[in-house]
Amino acid sequence: MTQPVDQFKRPLRDLRISVTDRCNFRCAYCMPADVYHEKFEFTPHEQILRYEEITRLARIAVGLGVVKLRITGGEPLVRRDIVELVEQLTHIDGVEDVAMTTNGSLLEAVAQPLKDAGLARVTVSLDSLDNDVFRRMNGGKADVAPVLAGIRAAERAGMTPIKINAVVQRGVNDHTIVDLARFCKDHGYILRFIEFMDVGTRNGWKLDQVVPAKEIIQRIDAELPLEPLESNYFGEVAERHRYRDGGGEIGVIASVTQPFCGTCTRLRLSADGSIYTCLFALRGVSLRDPMRAGATNEELSAILAGVWQKRTDRYSEIRTEQTAADKKVEMYYIGG
Ligand code: SAM
Ligand code: SF4
Ligand code: SF4
Repeated sequence: MTQPVDQFKRPLRDLRISVTDRCNFRCAYCMPADVYHEKFEFTPHEQILRYEEITRLARIAVGLGVVKLRITGGEPLVRRDIVELVEQLTHIDGVEDVAMTTNGSLLEAVAQPLKDAGLARVTVSLDSLDNDVFRRMNGGKADVAPVLAGIRAAERAGMTPIKINAVVQRGVNDHTIVDLARFCKDHGYILRFIEFMDVGTRNGWKLDQVVPAKEIIQRIDAELPLEPLESNYFGEVAERHRYRDGGGEIGVIASVTQPFCGTCTRLRLSADGSIYTCLFALRGVSLRDPMRAGATNEELSAILAGVWQKRTDRYSEIRTEQTAADKKVEMYYIGG
């Protein structure tokens, strides 16, 4: 099968695999606790893809050009036997890189087995080193300490360089960003600040809570001088800077103020087996249903290629014109 490009000539390169829609945190910007309470109905187990099914679909996506896989969620480490999935995915011919995004709270115990199964890198989300701020942001579900223990375990296991993601919200954690930058610089972790995004419909997003990437960089630069870096590759989302004293790099993901749809090569697979061609998609296309109805690999590949070829998504570029905000898919559901 030739490798498809979409309507804007963007190739398919990355697949983000959400392995569960559940999470042990309740970050207000993603799964606010008042919506995702004890009675909230997550996707029933039988509708969630089994690991063999995920691997089969990933292999098909690799046949269409995907070279990078990222395991995400929900929280990927709450899914049982996740090491087995890593093992399967890293054995797919043609995959160059398998990574995971996690909140890190359960990482300490599984970092080494994950590495042994072939996981090259982890990105750990950590919004603040200030324990009160951190707890407020994650719905009171965890302290900073276990996340740091998870990061250290990943480092010991050799999953380096460690990447740290931090969502910045004005008036919530923006006063702690320089501390986090200094900590990551001292430890050699690559920090990526993410502008607070209007994903889904349930996080109460307001533009005035977004701290623009430019301001984030200015605030770090004032304390820890920076200079811009060229991007590593086509489709890189982070705008990178390096510390002038040679102490590593930092990046900002300016999805709100400086969208990067033009180079977006990412496809998302939800835990229940639908593909989404944009983080802000209104709906996905199920691959699980045809797969469970007996479709062949060629048939599934044709569906996937067809969806990609029709793709016209550039939500972040047209955000201000976008009014149909009531039906967007939630981020924990399709993965970040
Ligand atoms: N549970 C894992 C975690 O938190 O790393 C993986 C899934 S989470 C949805 C993936 C990433 O999306 C995290 O780094 C998280 O901070 C980010 N994220 C979630 N909601 C966001 C929002 N509204 N704006 C910006 N980033 C967001
Ligand atoms: Fe869970 Fe990650 Fe969403 Fe936080 S950002 S609620 S850790 S899925
Ligand atoms: Fe890609 Fe959609 Fe994000 Fe644009 S808004 S960068 S198309 S996921």
